[in-house]
Parts: sequence; C-alpha cells; structure tokens
Amino acid sequence: MEQAAIDLLKDEYEKQIFDLKQLLEISKSLNSTLDYGILIESILYTIMGQMKVLKAALYAKKGIDSTAFNLHRNYKGFEIDHDIDYSIPEDVPAMRLFARETRCWTLEEVRERLGDLGGLERIEPLGSCLIVPLKAKGVVNGLILLGEQIMNEEFSQYEKDYLLNIAILASIAINNAFLFEMTTTDMMTKLRMKHYFYTVLIEKMEESAFGEKPLSVIMADIDHFKQFNDTYGHSCGDEVLKNVARLLQKQTRLADVAARYGGEEFCMLLPDTDAKTAAIIAERIRHGIEEMSFEYEGQRLSVTLSLGVAEYDQNRDLSGTSIIDRADKAMYNSKQTGRNRVSVAR
Ligand code: GH3
Ligand code: MG
Ligand code: MG
Repeated sequence: MEQAAIDLLKDEYEKQIFDLKQLLEISKSLNSTLDYGILIESILYTIMGQMKVLKAALYAKKGIDSTAFNLHRNYKGFEIDHDIDYSIPEDVPAMRLFARETRCWTLEEVRERLGDLGGLERIEPLGSCLIVPLKAKGVVNGLILLGEQIMNEEFSQYEKDYLLNIAILASIAINNAFLFEMTTTDMMTKLRMKHYFYTVLIEKMEESAFGEKPLSVIMADIDHFKQFNDTYGHSCGDEVLKNVARLLQKQTRLADVAARYGGEEFCMLLPDTDAKTAAIIAERIRHGIEEMSFEYEGQRLSVTLSLGVAEYDQNRDLSGTSIIDRADKAMYNSKQTGRNRVSVAR
C-alpha cells in the first residue's frame, strides 16, 4: 500500500477512535442526571457540537398519559411562532414508519415513502434538515430535529450513523428520566410526591450549610377541605386539589420544588430564599388562592390556604424532618389563629 493511502487510513481510524471516545463521554454525561430539563439541554448541546449545527430541538411526551409529542422548550436556534401548535400525535403514519425503521430521515425522504408527510406537516415550517428518531425498547420516545450544518453540506452517512449512536444513548437517558419523573410525580395534581421532596430537601440542606446560603420551606394546608368532599362529593374535592396545585406550580421558580405532601397538604422548597422572602412568596400564594375564580358544576367555590414558613437553621435542623416539623407547626399556628394566613416559624 502506498504511504498516502496508509496515511489516509490512519486519519480515518484516528477519527473513529476520537468519535468513540466522544460517545463514551456523552454516555457518561447523559447518565449523570435524571433531571429532564438538564438532560434535554445536554443532549441538544452535545449534538450541536458534534454535528456543527446551529439549530436543534427535541420532541418528547409531556407525561405518561400524553398521546402526542411536544416540542421541548429548550430548542436552540429555530424560529418558533408561539401561536402555532407544533405537536405531533403519537399514532401518525410517520411515527409508525420511525418505529419500524431505525435511521435518520429528511422530510423529503418521509414524503417519498409515504406519499405525504404522514402527520409531520406541523414541523415543516421549522425548516429542519434532519429528523433523528429516539427509540428505547423499540418504542419511539422522542425526535431530534436538526437544522443545516454550518458548512452547509449534506449530512454524510458516517454522520447519520454517528447520530443514531447518540440517539440510542439519548433515548435510554430520556426513558430513565421519564420513568423517574413518573414514579415521583402525583398523577392527580402533577406535583412531586413527598419522598422526592424529602430527597431534594436533604440535598439542598447540605448545599445550604456548605455554601452558607438560605433555604426555606413552606407548608400549606387547604382550609376546611372536608367541606368540599362532604357538600359536593369527592370529585369536587379532587378539582379543588388540582386547582390549588396548578397555582402552586405557577408560583414556583425552576429551582424550587412544589410537592403534594399528603391528602390536602402541600409543601414547597425554596433554595436561596430566607424566611422573610419566603413569607412574601407564601403571602402571594395565599392571596392567589383566595382570589382564584373556581367553579364546580355551576357553583362558585372559594378556597383558602393556611401556610407555615420555616428557614433552614443548620444548628437546629439536623434532619429534614426537623425543618418540615417547624414549618408544619407554623402552619398549625395559622389554623389556630383564624386560617387563611401565613405564619413564620421562630
Ligand atoms: P382544616 O381547615 O383544619 O385543615 O380542615 P380540613 O377539613 O381541611 O382538614 P381534615 O384533615 O379534617 O380533612 C382533610 C380531608 O381531606 C379528609 C380526607 O377525606 C380528604 N382527602 C384527602 N386526600 C384526598 C383526595 O385525594 N381527594 C379528595 N377528594 N379528598 C381527599
Ligand atoms: Mg390536613
Ligand atoms: Mg385542611
């Protein structure tokens, strides 16, 4: 073999070794988080870097009972019109095609195969160049859309194969994060459950003690909740819970955790927040619930909350239960002093 040919082969092998090492790195980074938002961000940035594209987006299901794939809000580079619904129903012909054949697709290739876009019409305006289906255990659990490459070349077969390898890792990671989210989320209120709250609380207490940053907990309990069940039935009670949960979720920042602690009790974890600020947030929630316009079978219902706030004190709160107990006692004080109010733990 001539020297030039040997050099070429050597370059090719070196590139393959480099790419395999990259895949290992990607695998490690995708497996290091179960947080859905962080995971999707990391998948998109990885692919953009590897494929030299400026536009990337990911489609995934919002919840276990979703029947459509939604464009995840962490998309990069694409121009999105917020009045347009870009979602793709799970049972369209294109999705069935993706489930049958493992490969990357352009919209033209889908059209050639199906005669039309087979349910992908809504993503046509995005002008994406390549679709990479994400599959775990033979089931499509997401799609990655890529824009054109910076050099404006077509994706090579090598790149498409490489993308499929990344897609395998990404889909397993998404599947794990999805399962984790499902098993830690209360299906009725869509809030996190107590055990998840407790796990994050312990983590944040450690961070807070180490970084000397404040941390607060809010406990909230619906006033005279039994009345709703007794007067209008349990499904009315459930509606009240869902409405309260929605407002709590709306009031939380990305770093906060809002959870259903039990029956009609909720708790919130507020990192980087002292008791004074937490009390302002609790008061905003109390007011929001009081003002909430809520109808059940033609009846106007008014709901109120009693809340308790506690700030983490590393000298007193040696366990997660301790700070929760203090917030709970403050909440109980709100109950005893007339309900529909906020109390702060001393
Ligand atoms: P207070 O103002 O003192 O908190 O009074 P309350 O009626 O809210 O408190 P109590 O603890 O007496 O009642 C809570 C009720 O919540 C009792 C239980 O039947 C009901 N409950 C618990 N979980 C659910 C649920 O998932 N759905 C419905 N509809 N009711 C629930
Ligand atoms: Mg209660
Ligand atoms: Mg109650």
